[in-house]
Amino acid sequence: MRKKALVTGCAGFIGSHLCEKLIKEGFHVIGIDCFTDYYSKSIKKSNLSLLISNPNFIFIEGDLIKISLKEYLKDVEFIFHQAGQPGVRGSWGKEFDVYIDNNIFATQILLEEAKDYNIKKFVYASSSSVYGNTNILPMKESQLPEPFSPYGVTKLAAEQLCHLYYENYGLPVISLRYFTVFGPRQRPEMAISSFIRSMFNDKELVVYGDGNQVRDFTYIDDIVSANLLAAYSDIKGEVFNVASQNPVKLIDVIYMLEKIIGKKAIINFKESQKGDVKDTYGDISKIKKMLGYNPYFDIEKGLANHVKYMEKLKI
Ligand code: NAD
Repeated sequence: MRKKALVTGCAGFIGSHLCEKLIKEGFHVIGIDCFTDYYSKSIKKSNLSLLISNPNFIFIEGDLIKISLKEYLKDVEFIFHQAGQPGVRGSWGKEFDVYIDNNIFATQILLEEAKDYNIKKFVYASSSSVYGNTNILPMKESQLPEPFSPYGVTKLAAEQLCHLYYENYGLPVISLRYFTVFGPRQRPEMAISSFIRSMFNDKELVVYGDGNQVRDFTYIDDIVSANLLAAYSDIKGEVFNVASQNPVKLIDVIYMLEKIIGKKAIINFKESQKGDVKDTYGDISKIKKMLGYNPYFDIEKGLANHVKYMEKLKI
């Protein structure tokens, strides 16, 4: 019999790739998504296009906070909780309630339900944003998390909730702290997607800060692999960085894109935004040692795939 998995946020960038991989791996997948309005519903619908007609995929359009989860959790062995409200800059001000709902409250509701079922692994999509603007680099799971944005606070709160359900109810949770994920279907507002789109259309691209900030860009397929490794392992109650451990300056990413696309970028430097951290750089020795993770994609190979994908879409 096929193993059964529940993927929340299945219509998003990471969730949709994960569902496709799980189906290839022989899973039966139930995907839940409510199409939040953070970016266009039509993009999210197209993220589901390879899944929707697959007999091993069931799509439930619904909000984790509002729907009854019980009927979907029956027989589910693995939960991959990818649903959330991403984005550092939008998390200030009035929108914070959306972050509380979709990152904290939705996670607590899912954990409350999951604890009553025989779940083999609950994998939570955490974030490097929990580390904050630290100069302790590379960032290690053992260091004190000090989020620098309201978004980071909500991701850390949800991660800690996951840990509480492990400690108190034995729910076998693993949290994966993703470092800036890129590749096909990357959210349209994220740096690499928006840089490629601007360059294709000969438009100015905006860099917040001087471009010397460093990010540990991690290719989508490596993120998906880390989720599977976490699901299959006997380890629980742990937090892992998922990075490439190859930090690159944002300005160097633009130079690489110029080479791949064969065009000069028109760059408009703007003041860095509140909540943006200077550098991210993840230490991956723990996940390598305990889960056998090994990032396969380097930045150049990953960027080439990302550009090819956007070229095909004629964005
Ligand atoms: P995304 O916005 O593309 O996907 C998230 C999906 O969750 C969306 O389709 C949205 O509609 C859905 N969703 C949100 N709230 C929901 C709710 N209450 N009920 C049902 N569905 C809901 O984002 P992404 O980039 O794919 O990120 C996925 C997860 O990974 C998020 O939790 C994010 O915080 C985390 N993460 C992403 C990155 C990255 O670089 N993309 C880095 C670190 C962590």
